[in-house]
Formats: sequence, structure tokens, C-alpha cells
Amino acid sequence: MEWETVIGLEIHAQLSTKSKIFSGSSTAYGAAPNVQANLVDLGYPGVLPVLNREAVRMAVKFGLAIDAKIARHSVFARKNYFYPDLPKGYQISQYELPIVADGSLEIVLDDGTRKRIGITRAHLEEDAGKSIHEGLPGVTGIDLNRAGTPLIEIVSEPDMRSAKEAVAYMKKVHTLVRYLEICDGNMQEGSFRCDANVSVRPKGSDRFGTRTEIKNLNSFRFVEKAINYEVARQIDILESGGKVVQETRLYDPDRGETRSMRTKEEANDYRYFPDPDLLPLVLDDAFIDEVRASLPELPDQKAARFSEQYGLSAYDAGVLTASRELADYYEEVVRRVPGEPKLAANWVMVELAAALNRDGVEITESRVSAGRLAGLLNRIVDNTISGKIAKEVFEAMWTSGRDADTIIEEKGLRQITDTAAIEKAIDEVLAANPKQLAEYRAGKDKLFGFFVGQVMKATKGKANPAQLNELLKKKLQG
Ligand code: ADP
Ligand code: MG
Repeated sequence: MEWETVIGLEIHAQLSTKSKIFSGSSTAYGAAPNVQANLVDLGYPGVLPVLNREAVRMAVKFGLAIDAKIARHSVFARKNYFYPDLPKGYQISQYELPIVADGSLEIVLDDGTRKRIGITRAHLEEDAGKSIHEGLPGVTGIDLNRAGTPLIEIVSEPDMRSAKEAVAYMKKVHTLVRYLEICDGNMQEGSFRCDANVSVRPKGSDRFGTRTEIKNLNSFRFVEKAINYEVARQIDILESGGKVVQETRLYDPDRGETRSMRTKEEANDYRYFPDPDLLPLVLDDAFIDEVRASLPELPDQKAARFSEQYGLSAYDAGVLTASRELADYYEEVVRRVPGEPKLAANWVMVELAAALNRDGVEITESRVSAGRLAGLLNRIVDNTISGKIAKEVFEAMWTSGRDADTIIEEKGLRQITDTAAIEKAIDEVLAANPKQLAEYRAGKDKLFGFFVGQVMKATKGKANPAQLNELLKKKLQG
């Protein structure tokens, strides 16, 4: 039977406020355990939560960016459950009336087609603390620094049909929250993570199958692998006549498999009710308009502008606007190499991206700055070096940290544009290869490339390619 995969993601993004959502404790990452948890975070009697205005502003910013409805009236609810790292015995979240509802985002698939993914809701909530097992044999440590850190949970519609689509969607949300500067997007530190809900159904069926939820995936690669594993596991069960059990599962990256964690709880198990310590959150138009006015150019807008202004394909524009930092880098190169936006795009997307990737360096820490890369490209544009030699210069710039001109001079890489010098090299090559010359003249046209290669070799790749082609043609005719 042919199966269809159905996926919905719940993404947790940590809001980059300075203090927690209901207390004045710091949210800075990396402090010694339990030094950033005050009486509110610890759920002491006689204390009351106070809502962080900045967290509200950030949630609204997100809602506006995904074209969602911003609730003028939303409510905080208690979600009750026991966990050692949840001192109050409940998590403050939003349930029936979330601050953001009914939005959507567009993703671009591999084949270039676009697809809209619905976002059911995005609500504000507090994070729990952390249970630490590593390095503590036989005991569990509790660190409450994270307790009370503001999150938005972004819940998608079950609109994705493959692991690749799910990753494309998650990357798009990641790009967006970073553009909006509401989340640092750091996945290693857990600031951006997701739960993947996965089910399968016979292709063509209009009913969803039973789903499982894979908790806490904190890398794009894990999301893809965990979903693919889970899809195969569910199909196996169904094809051998079994039933998928609705449950929560964990992904084990070392084994590349998911395993059962607990059977799925229902919403009513949590005994949600409006938190009596917090007033309903009421927003007026003035506040929402003020937030709207603070929105930056959004990723899709920037990509459309790049396509139009620089003549880039939708794909290239998408890659170059994946982060604001990358887009800024690209635009600085373009400004310094006027009239060559495609050359700049190719170099940023190919040579620079490969070097960053190879050495695991972020664009903001690139060893070749935008100004330096522009310096190199200008030497291609003014014919000082060929594109091929430029790659060699780029490598040297990357490892030595020096600029293009210094390296070109030092290594004597300037292109040979002197006609006489190129002609001399051609003559020598022809004289040294009489057999090939005779064959060429007898009609073996393919040998043209052989002669080009030989002259390039003789000139250490420095002959101007266009001139070489033209001069060689003339000589061979003569
Ligand atoms: P819960 O309240 O248990 O978290 P929700 O109805 O809020 O459940 O859905 C949680 C997520 O699961 C959403 O992202 C939704 O799109 C997704 N989802 C719901 N049903 C399915 C299904 N059958 N297959 C895959 N994903 C699903
Ligand atoms: Mg849920």
C-alpha cells in the first residue's frame, strides 16, 4: 500500500527578554545552577507573578509577522502536573485564549514550488527548570535557572507531508524569529526546539491516522531523522496488522531511533484553569500599531526585493536571506562591486559558504570580511586575475587573513594580458606537440581544449582565458 505522512510541529522558542516572564530574575544562559531563581520562580507562598511587557511585545511581533489574529483579550491558564523541576506543580501557559491565532508561513520546496503552512496558534508560557543526569551517577540534579523563562509555543496545522517539509518549515520559523530579534535561535542551548507530531495514512484517505509525538528535538538533522524513523516504524506496524499507539516518544540520536516515553495524556488530564493570580491580558490598538511599526523588513520581503533589485532566482534570493547577517554581508559586497550582483551571489553562496561550512564558522565571524571579498571580486572584474585563480587567492585569504591585492602581488598571480607573451607560449606549445597539431589540422577539433590546457599549464594558469582562446584560434588556422 502507498502511505502518506502527516506532520504537525509544536515549536518552542525562548524569547530573548532580559528577565523572566513573571519575575525579575535574569534569563542569561550559563550561570551556576540555581542562582537565577527567586521566590516567584520557586513558587513560594505569598508571592505573585507580574507579566513581562517585553515578552508580550515579542509575541505580538511574531503574530504580526505571520499575518495572524492578535487577541485583544487573552488569558493565562495553569497547566497542572508534577515534575521535580516544576516547583509550583503547574506551568503558567495559555489554553483557550492564546495571544496569537490563525497565521501562516510560506515554505519553498526543493523543486521550487511554494507551500503555505498554517499556524493554529502561538501562545505565551513559562519554561520549566532542568533535571540534570549527566556526570551525576545515581542522582538527579535540579537547576531552576530556566524555570520561568519566557517561551512562545508555535503550533502548526498538520500541513506537512514529509520530513523535508517539516525541516523547511522549522528553518523558516527559525529565520523569522531571528529577523524579529525575539529569540537567539541557539539550538544547542535549547532556545529553539520542537516536538514533532507524526502519523501516516493510506494515500488518498481523508482521515488522519493515529499520531505519536516526538519530544524535544533540538537540531534540524534530528528532526529529519526522527520523523523518517518514526514514519517507517508506523508503516511497519500497520502493514503487519497492528495499531499505532498514541504516545509521547523520545529520539535517541546515538541509536537513530525513537522509543516510548509515556502514553499520551489528554488536555483534560492537566486540569487547565485560568490562573487567578493573573489578570486577563488586554491589548489596545495603539500598542499593536506601535509593535507593527517596529517590524523590520521580513525574510520574504527581503527575498522578493533581492530577486527584483539584483536579478536573482527565487532559490538564490531565499538562500541569501536565510539570516539577516548573511543578507547584510551580501549587500555590502554588492555595494562595493557595483553592477555585479550575480557574481557576488555566486561567491557568497559557493566559495564563502563552503569555507564557513568546512570550518564551522558563522558568517559574523568569517575570516574574509565582505569588504575583503569585494576586493577580490573587483580584481576579477578588472581582469587582474581569472575566476579560477581567484579561488586560489580566496583560499589564501581565508587561511592567512590577508587581502587579495597583497596575495596577488606576493604570489605573482596577475593575469597575463600581454598579447606577445601569450602568443609566445602558444608557439612553444604548438612546436612541442607536432603530432597533436597534425591531428587537429586533419579535423580532430576536440584537441583545441588540449592546447588551451597546455598553454594554461605553461603560464601557470595566468593567461587571460578570452585572449588565449582568440589567439590560439588564429594560430591554428594559420
Ligand atoms: P495536543 O493538545 O495533544 O498537543 P493538538 O491538537 O494541539 O494536540 O495538536 C498538536 C500538534 O499535533 C499540532 O501541531 C497538530 O498539527 C498536530 N497533529 C494533530 N493531529 C495530527 C495527526 N493525526 N498527525 C500528525 N500531526 C497531528
Ligand atoms: Mg500540545
